[in-house]
Amino acid sequence: MAEINKLGNVVARCPGCDGGKSTFEYSAEGRQLGSTAVVTRKPYSQYEDCDVQFRLFRCAGCGRGGLGAIRMMKTHSTYPADIWQLLWFYPEAKARLPLPKETPKGIVMEFREAEICKENECFRASAAMFRSVIDKVLRQNGYKIRQLKNLKEQIDAAAADGVITEARKRKAHEDVRVLGNDVLHDEWREVKEEDVDLAHHYTQRVLEDFYDDRESVLKLIREAGRKPIEDVSSEDEQDET
Ligand SMILES: [Zn+2]
Repeated sequence: MAEINKLGNVVARCPGCDGGKSTFEYSAEGRQLGSTAVVTRKPYSQYEDCDVQFRLFRCAGCGRGGLGAIRMMKTHSTYPADIWQLLWFYPEAKARLPLPKETPKGIVMEFREAEICKENECFRASAAMFRSVIDKVLRQNGYKIRQLKNLKEQIDAAAADGVITEARKRKAHEDVRVLGNDVLHDEWREVKEEDVDLAHHYTQRVLEDFYDDRESVLKLIREAGRKPIEDVSSEDEQDET
């Protein structure tokens, strides 16, 4: 949740700084970036006029711009001395879930894009992207083979090999695969934020299963006769395509 400090700067999670907390400053090189003020009621107060400033800000980390609405004290509106409260701020990232260090870059990027979709309330897109993360993880770990014809069988095989637990298998099916399939294959329907929250959470857990202790997982899947991406030579890859 964005907060405004006594200096008049906004502290918020910045989408340009990978969701890290950053300070958005209202001035740069000694000059204010700009603002416009209005006296209004709706939607900020039902009963009395209030002075609202709409202000430009800039992330001190990455330079990305932001816009804030700030309610000012009525009598005099000197900024920042007379700030009453921050009404809203845009853009603001939500917390990004941590991923294991060994997670391949392409999978991390897919996961982060799913999070960005969710932050922007594109819940159907987000659900499809989380399903895609699971799909890619299984591909990279040697489960995308002719004998396992769909994602359902691939998840079951990963559980049978002991890479993911039975409980996790159930969640991966119910909360990620089925939801993603609904988006990709069924008639349009609204997907709720809480549904995507579950997909988000369990996709992260599956990534932890595969990449937290990579050496142990590699041993398991090699013993099960799988061919993870680590064992695929560039000639093999050419054969596949
Ligand atoms: Zn930033």
